[in-house]
Amino acid sequence: MKTLRLSAVRVITPRSEVIRNHARKLKSALRRVLEAGAVIAATAFASAPAHALPVMQVTIQPWQVCDDAGNNCAVTNLFNAFTQKIWAQADIIVNFLAIQQVNSSARLNETNFSDLGNVGDASIIDLWFVNDLSDCGGNYGFGSLYGCGTSGGWFAMTKWVYDFSPIGRVDTLSHELGHVLGLGHNDFGAGGADNLLTSGGSRSIAQDLGDVNPDGLGLEKLTAQQIAEARSSDFVSDVTNSVPEPGTLLLAALALLGARLTRRKAVA
Ligand SMILES: [Zn+2]
Repeated sequence: MKTLRLSAVRVITPRSEVIRNHARKLKSALRRVLEAGAVIAATAFASAPAHALPVMQVTIQPWQVCDDAGNNCAVTNLFNAFTQKIWAQADIIVNFLAIQQVNSSARLNETNFSDLGNVGDASIIDLWFVNDLSDCGGNYGFGSLYGCGTSGGWFAMTKWVYDFSPIGRVDTLSHELGHVLGLGHNDFGAGGADNLLTSGGSRSIAQDLGDVNPDGLGLEKLTAQQIAEARSSDFVSDVTNSVPEPGTLLLAALALLGARLTRRKAVA
């Protein structure tokens, strides 16, 4: 009887010990969930495309300027392959809207760059294809400007871009876009012949897509400082934030679990 009473007493576990056992089991279960989640997250990241930075984009509305009668329209060329490869250095996609026509003899041979302007949606950059341009914040005379760009949100390209060589001055669009995104000729590491933002007179212009940085001759280069500055422009938007990736969602869920675990620890 004595032994029986003793064993009966032993099966009654103190209430505090029951709570401790439950807490241990809960922590152990949460730890297993976290460990499993970490493995899944690591796998997801390993299979994701290798991007140094989140992909961002700029949207551009191109305007083909014609004379008042709708004739003698300016030549248009987006140099898309060059434009995308050049700006891929900054993980920026250049999103071109459909080219629209605008009839204005004054704009076709523009004497005041400010007249072109940012029209419509202010967050969309306007690109004006004109015949000739004599002003870019100072009078340069017709026939001397390939293009002009301002951080106000617009830029222009002239017919002289196409006379430069058989394939044209393929980087003018990207160079002027750089000005729109806040880059100058002598800041953020520009100045070398291989840099996209160096002034046209002393810049080596790629004539083969294979010579755009990081390939071939490494031309049209953007420095890390230029990339950071351009990506901070109000005209650049993050295209990855709008659609969270599975890995991001999983990490958020894990962070939440971790926070709960921490709170439970704090209460205990
Ligand atoms: Zn320039």
